This record gives sequence, C-alpha cells and structure tokens, in this order.
Amino acid sequence: MSAVFRNLSNFFSVSFLLLCLLGTARGLDSRFVLIDVNVYNDAKVSSVTMRRAEELAGRVLQCAGVHVLWNDGQPSRNPSLSEPEGNPAAKFLLRIVPHSRNLADSVFGVSFLGTDNSGRYGDIFYAAAERLSETAHINLADVLGHVIAHELGHLLLGTNAHSPQGIMRPHWSSEELHSLAMGRLLFTPEQAQSIRDRATQPLTAALTR
Ligand SMILES: [Zn+2]
Repeated sequence: MSAVFRNLSNFFSVSFLLLCLLGTARGLDSRFVLIDVNVYNDAKVSSVTMRRAEELAGRVLQCAGVHVLWNDGQPSRNPSLSEPEGNPAAKFLLRIVPHSRNLADSVFGVSFLGTDNSGRYGDIFYAAAERLSETAHINLADVLGHVIAHELGHLLLGTNAHSPQGIMRPHWSSEELHSLAMGRLLFTPEQAQSIRDRATQPLTAALTR
C-alpha cells in the first residue's frame, strides 16, 4: 500500500460516517432494507480479509439504507439486527471464486438476474480484485469489499444498475479508486431510493420465497 493511500485510509471510517449523515440530510428516509447474504469462500481468501471486506461492503450498503446479515458458515455477525416480523430479510448468495472461467480479466464479478428482473446469486472473481489491489496500491480487502457491494447492487437494483457515477460505475477509473480509498465510493441517492422502493415491492417477496 502506498503512503498516500495508507494515509487516506486513516480517514475511512470518518468519511463513511459523514457521507451517511449527508445522505440523511439530503432527504433519504429512515426506511431500511434487511438482507441476508451467504458467502461461499471458494477462493479461500483469509478470514481477516473476508471480515474486513464484508465490513466495508456492509458500510457502503448501510449508507444506502441496507443492513446486511453476513453468513459464511458462522452465526450472524450482527446479532443486534433481527428480522422484523412480517419483513423477512431478502436472501442472497455470493460465491468468491478464484477467477472467471470465460470472462475477461477486467471483469470483477457477475450477477445472475432472471427474466423477472430479480436475482439472488453472484460470483466475485478474486484474481481480478487482487490484480487491482496490486496495480492501484489499495488494500485488497478494501477492493474486495467494494466489489461485493457492487455485485449486491446488481441484485438489489435489477437490470440497468450501472450508472456514470458512484459504486455502480461499470469501470472504475483513477477517480473512483481514489474515492474508494477515501470511503466515498457509494450508491447514489437515487440508487438508494430505488433499492428501498424495490424492497417494498415484489422484490422482497420474490427473493424470500
Ligand atoms: Zn457491474
């Protein structure tokens, strides 16, 4: 990790807090979506890296009003969050695989959406995240966490989830990578609203059946 990014990452937590507060100030409502994510670590990523990656992905999603219950063979790490009655968590499955078998090296992951525009499954390509971590001199867990948030974004937003700004940008330039290191690579307010709106529509029902 370069000195610049190491210093920048010291402000990570503070930046997240401030940005979430700014989102609230911009008028995002207090509704939240609860999702349950099972992670299969086929790439055998270290538990330290996975824990940090899930923590960061959880923060990015929390800024969009999404609370994540992570499950990777262990009991939920968020015991304070229980499923509210009548509002069960939508369930997703992510698999961290060593690399893609047939997609370009520049692809970090893939999500599987059905014809009804909903999906529950996504693959994350570890080698692509590791390569970006090395070339951009950003902590691997930070990259992995944001890739996880991006793929969950696909599953939460449905088709056409990419946007010219924020974490759902299809290709991350140096500008996005700088934002990532600063903890500012987030869902846009419009995407956060869309996720909440979808969660109160057929999304939850479709994903929990
Ligand atoms: Zn994408």
